[in-house]
Amino acid sequence: MKFSVLTLFPEMVDPFWNNGMIARGIEKGLISGNCINIRDFSTDRHHTVDDRPYGGGSGMVMKPEPLKEAVHSAKAGNPDARVILMSPQGTRFDQPLAERFAEEEKGMVFVCGRYEGIDERIVDGLIDEEISIGDFVLTGGELAAMAVIDSVARLIPGVLGSDESSKSDSFTDGRLEYAQYTRPEDFQGNRVPGVLLSGNHERIRQWRKASSIKRTFLKRPDLLDNASLDEEEKTILRRWCRELEALVRN
Ligand code: SAM
Repeated sequence: MKFSVLTLFPEMVDPFWNNGMIARGIEKGLISGNCINIRDFSTDRHHTVDDRPYGGGSGMVMKPEPLKEAVHSAKAGNPDARVILMSPQGTRFDQPLAERFAEEEKGMVFVCGRYEGIDERIVDGLIDEEISIGDFVLTGGELAAMAVIDSVARLIPGVLGSDESSKSDSFTDGRLEYAQYTRPEDFQGNRVPGVLLSGNHERIRQWRKASSIKRTFLKRPDLLDNASLDEEEKTILRRWCRELEALVRN
């Protein structure tokens, strides 16, 4: 997967390619990433990339000409790429969308807005999809683009050390991940649940399933609204409800 980021602040994004799993994925040749400075495509001597909005009002709008040239340049080096505009008005990004991108796309070009955003004619003519990372407004699209790239890249087979680790991640099957523990066994008097030390794989699987469904129920019950629970999960929740009732009665 080839990721290209169109930005006025490449210095914000460049270090991102050089760290952690993203750097490992690049080293392994599974992904690649580059930044394109939109300002490089401005033709006037002041390298202007923004202008006042027609109709008046506060703030500036990113001009269409440099953006158009920047998108064409990105597409020339990444011809099959989907062009994504980072925008608070876009489709809300989530794990299923990350999975779709990782499975279906060969390349992705991210357009990062600044100021009041970009001229609408670019949105109409050159953007395949608008993506938001949540109902809040950032000053620019760079952090949002990096968040999307990070979550898509880790789903590309081979990028993570073990592909199994992303399979149990939160949201993968509409559940939150089970509780995790590492050494020491006893931390300030709090012990790791004994079952995790038992070496009994079936009991550990059952414990993790119970942990996952209970945490989802407590922290994000909305995720269960449309989920179909399997028999094991129903049994876990019924047993848990009985335990809670007994607690309340006593
Ligand atoms: N005036 C715009 C509006 O009200 O919809 C907001 C512009 S925002 C200050 C500047 C840029 O930050 C946007 O063009 C977009 O690229 C990025 N941005 C802001 N919030 C975002 C979000 N929640 N998700 C993705 N990108 C965002």
